Amino acid sequence: MIKGYLKNKYLRYLNIKKTLKEMDALNERLIKEKEIRQEFFANASHELKTPITSIRGYAELLESDMIKDEATKKDMISRIKKEADHMNMLIADILEVSKLETKEIRPEVMKVDIGLLVGETIETFKPRADEAQVSIYDYSKPGTFVYADYSHMDEIISNLVSNAIRYNRKNGKVWIYAANEGGFLELRVRDTGIGIPSSECSRIFERFYRVDKGRSRSSGGTGLGLSIVKHILSYYKGTIDVRSKLGSGSEFTVRIPERYEA
Ligand code: ADP
Repeated sequence: MIKGYLKNKYLRYLNIKKTLKEMDALNERLIKEKEIRQEFFANASHELKTPITSIRGYAELLESDMIKDEATKKDMISRIKKEADHMNMLIADILEVSKLETKEIRPEVMKVDIGLLVGETIETFKPRADEAQVSIYDYSKPGTFVYADYSHMDEIISNLVSNAIRYNRKNGKVWIYAANEGGFLELRVRDTGIGIPSSECSRIFERFYRVDKGRSRSSGGTGLGLSIVKHILSYYKGTIDVRSKLGSGSEFTVRIPERYEA
């Protein structure tokens, strides 16, 4: 009788100990998540301050009447516009990150025709590619598909293609390949661009990490694109890999299970 009572008590003690350990782990996770969020917002406000400071500086100069030359005035106005566009892009990416962080949001899964999406993406980016004198070639297999949220796939392809143009060189090339292979969607975006130092290849997926901040900023980058891609891929148990040679180009490979499993 006493033995049974002690055994029950001991089991209860073990249960409480286990619950306390789980609570500790949860608490630790929450603290870590809070730290990550705080760091993100600190970085985001720092990034937003840069264009605001420039816009303010140009506006003050124009207001002061110190600039007499019309061409310089025009140049300043176009710089203000560029900074405002940059802010817009930053805000859009920051909102995208916080949307992805809201765990309640469930992807609207449907059969997405990746061949068509690649074609549309190329159309969208054609003016930018022409301006940068970069040619895009599509080797995607017709009928390539994946079950996923259309906007998520659009985000992934657009980010990779826009980077392949942005970090390319004059008369550069971009090759896109998409196919279904072994139950996966495989998407490759290769460019003849500036490449990435091997020591930085894993870091480029971190939020706001940029190899060359100046080049990214001046060409409209926010430093968030690849972190958004990686975050989206985690929904689908997908992966992204990069192979790059400094000065020769980069190849990004995305693999996503064809059929989405929550
Ligand atoms: P960004 O808006 O700065 O392009 P991303 O998150 O998309 O931000 O990429 C992070 C960094 O990775 C970029 O700033 C750039 O340094 C590097 N990078 C990404 N794609 C390429 C590429 N195709 N070629 C060379 N560097 C790249």
